[in-house]
Amino acid sequence: MICLGIESTAHTFGVGVVNDRGKILSDSRDMFVPKPGKGFVPKELADHHIEFAFKIVDDALKKSSLKLHDLDLIAFSQGPGIPNSLRIGAAAARFLATKFNKPLVGVNHPVAHIEIGKLNTGAKDPIVVYLSGGNTQIIAHVEGKYRVFGETEDIPVGNCFDVVAREISLPYPGGSNIEKFAKNGNYVELPYIVKGMDQSFSGIATAAVKKFKAGVRKEDICYSLQETCFAMLTEVTERAMAHTEKKEVLLVGGVAANKRLQEMMNKMCEERGAKMFVVDENFSGDNGTMIAWTGLLQYSTEKKQTKDTSIKQNWRTDEVKTIWI
Ligand code: AMP
Ligand code: MG
Repeated sequence: MICLGIESTAHTFGVGVVNDRGKILSDSRDMFVPKPGKGFVPKELADHHIEFAFKIVDDALKKSSLKLHDLDLIAFSQGPGIPNSLRIGAAAARFLATKFNKPLVGVNHPVAHIEIGKLNTGAKDPIVVYLSGGNTQIIAHVEGKYRVFGETEDIPVGNCFDVVAREISLPYPGGSNIEKFAKNGNYVELPYIVKGMDQSFSGIATAAVKKFKAGVRKEDICYSLQETCFAMLTEVTERAMAHTEKKEVLLVGGVAANKRLQEMMNKMCEERGAKMFVVDENFSGDNGTMIAWTGLLQYSTEKKQTKDTSIKQNWRTDEVKTIWI
């Protein structure tokens, strides 16, 4: 069975083609990059996705040497996400499924990040640390669902990095530029905010920008931001491991690429006799391949297409029954 998956929850329009043995036949994507100093404007995201939708579908098909008729299934990212972005992917998927008479399945975006991470790394039953521009969740699979053990109470950690980067004149994506500048930084104090298993990042962002405006060096802001946010996340991850007695950690989402985060999580895992996995950088950010793979897992177990294909802006990770596990 071969599935084409469409991702469009936020900045990226992505298409991946995957077969049911987990072989990735092609991946194509284009990411909308806001103008310097600007954030994402929903209308601009939608315009970008409309412009790129069928170019990216064509490119992914060309790279896989397949035609639409050769596909067995269409999957799309149904939520959660920015409605203007989600709608374009959903509309493209519905169009392809109807025109070429293929079954259509809606996929939960965070669950897809987890499944591509497991396929890519071989992790079996990990505590998943999902850190991106739109989400921050510590997740474990318990009793038929991916349960959220801890999450941000306000902005996601990737967004915190992007906001601070913008304010200190580093280009988007903020996280990777913060990582570069952090290499030559020293620690200045920032608030450390963990409440039970949840975290808060907006106060840290505000404090970091305030320190920068008061004359603290960019390098020191970047270093301290990483140290503080990653220590918070490592603390919560360790507690989730102790509670669930799981012996693996899997880092997914765009922030997973950060070497300092990996170092801190790895040290914690070593001390607990656990193993850390990091999804390959090519699949840590949003992509269509993860949607195609999760669509295949879903459809091959359930054998049903999705009845209601309207977008689910606030669809939570723990609302999905993971029947394929
Ligand atoms: P995603 O939303 O999963 O596509 O990932 C994008 C987010 O990852 C943005 O918020 C980036 O700032 C962040 N990011 C990308 N690379 C890094 C990095 N090396 N360190 C920290 N954050 C990163
Ligand atoms: Mg994502």
